[in-house]
Amino acid sequence: MNYCSNCGSEQINFDIPHGDNRARYICHQCNAIHYQNPKMVVGCLPVFEDKILICRRAIEPCYGLWNLPAGYLENNETVEEGAARETWEEARANVKIIKLHCIYNLPHINQVYLHFLAHLKNDRIACGSESLEVKLFDVYDIPWKQLAFSSSKFALEKYIEFKESYQGVHMGTYQAD
Ligand code: ZN
Repeated sequence: MNYCSNCGSEQINFDIPHGDNRARYICHQCNAIHYQNPKMVVGCLPVFEDKILICRRAIEPCYGLWNLPAGYLENNETVEEGAARETWEEARANVKIIKLHCIYNLPHINQVYLHFLAHLKNDRIACGSESLEVKLFDVYDIPWKQLAFSSSKFALEKYIEFKESYQGVHMGTYQAD
């Protein structure tokens, strides 16, 4: 952080505020403490008649690889709204959110993923501006080796493994290889 977004001062220190227990960016001009916290990424595992909607990315990172529709939660938005919005933006798909499917922690990059199980209202899908291709995959056709992110892999694996037997939320954390 080079300057204070509150007052514009460049007198920023990275120090532990009084009564706190970890370092924050503190402005010495206006005393603002600039807290930084993880970002929430919301998405869907959209299902239509035993097929799963997956999108091929038209953006970096991981251009050309496949991913469940997901993106950053926006201000003034619920997590369900964000997940449905991302699915519309990436695949022009209308979904009904069924339940929270999994929570996936990425503490090394300060992100938390929420994937919701969702039902497609119909099979009309089309590429949004962030997708090269969108497709309904049979479970045995999922492009495991071309998945963009471990969060999607986790969501898909848990869906397939526990489809009939467990209705709770799956929790996972990124493990470096
Ligand atoms: Zn300031």
